[in-house]
Amino acid sequence: MIPGPTPVPETVLKAMARHPIGHRTSEFQSVVQKTNKQLQWLHQTSNDVLVITGSGTAAMEAGIINTLSRGNKVICGNNGKFGERWVKVCSAYGLDVIEIKETWGTPLNTEQFRKILEADENKEIKAVIVTHSETSTGVINDLKTISKHVQNHKSALTIADCVTSLGACNVPMDEWGLDVIASGSQKGYMMPPGLSFVAMSDRAWNAYNESNLPKFYLDLGPYRKTSKNNSNPFTPSVNLYFALEAALEMMQSEGLEQIFKRHSRHRYATQEGMKAIGMSLYASEGYGSPAITSILTKDIDAEIIRKLVKDRFDILLAGGQDHLKGKIFRIGHLGFVNDRDILTVIAAIEAVMSSLGMHHGKVGDGIAAAASTLQ
Ligand SMILES: *Cc1c(COP(=O)(O)O)cnc(C)c1O
Repeated sequence: MIPGPTPVPETVLKAMARHPIGHRTSEFQSVVQKTNKQLQWLHQTSNDVLVITGSGTAAMEAGIINTLSRGNKVICGNNGKFGERWVKVCSAYGLDVIEIKETWGTPLNTEQFRKILEADENKEIKAVIVTHSETSTGVINDLKTISKHVQNHKSALTIADCVTSLGACNVPMDEWGLDVIASGSQKGYMMPPGLSFVAMSDRAWNAYNESNLPKFYLDLGPYRKTSKNNSNPFTPSVNLYFALEAALEMMQSEGLEQIFKRHSRHRYATQEGMKAIGMSLYASEGYGSPAITSILTKDIDAEIIRKLVKDRFDILLAGGQDHLKGKIFRIGHLGFVNDRDILTVIAAIEAVMSSLGMHHGKVGDGIAAAASTLQ
């Protein structure tokens, strides 16, 4: 129950177990053709969605270096570990970063984006970079509103890290006017790590033509060109493509609405289950991520709870990062997760809290709350 790598369905594992095939064969081209269509479906877009062999960070870095130029001014939203990472990537490429920061656990303040964008009369800001679901804290940022402010600016691009929101909640690329969306296979895709995805709008491609940041492996031009012929610039992870085809088929048969509903139910059930046993949610009320729920453990080192849940029940929870280590634990409910998984993890946490003498209620209260929320 960590937010990535997430559980992988057997169908997907079996698809991967095939012998690899030549990446320039027509057999492989038909896989690429099919997955290209499926990826557009998942992103709710008619834009190109390109596939990179690399982790989610590669897709995000690609989005940044293919649309911007040295010295460009950009806004980075930073309210967690991943927000921090995009500031580092931008700085590494010599971009001029305006950080909009927020305390970890709190969503980004959309009004700050609006004010800075409105004050930018000379249109110096070239991009607004936002982490939609901040996995490190379990906060979902209001990407839709931020994107609206960027659209009113008329010149800047919206570059979104949707690594733990895509396939978990609604991220309609075209409808929200998002210019770049980055994601990774080991999250909502229900796949092993190794592939990442970057979707680019027409506006992003226009910016690509102007962009002068150095790039080679992550130059999206060749990805776009070869993608039109159902191919790739380099040898892709052929077996992960088999997995992608199978995983997206499963997602299509469940349907986007159903997938979003399932994640939303699991988020609320987890929240209610934890609250019912006296545990505190770390993310601000109303801003809990559909992918992950963070629990603030005030009177005890969160690592103790994590260790007991692992040792006694073989369930892996995520810990806190940086200054949150020992302060929070995180329950992932992203991807291939069902109601049984949610009830099981809550039962395990209840049992552990009870054995520690820290269960604030009757054992079973958490399950009861979660079960009734699921219903
Ligand atoms: C997992 C994750 C990433 C990508 O990390 P990689 O380890 O490079 O795959 C990016 N952003 C968020 C919010 C994530 O959760």
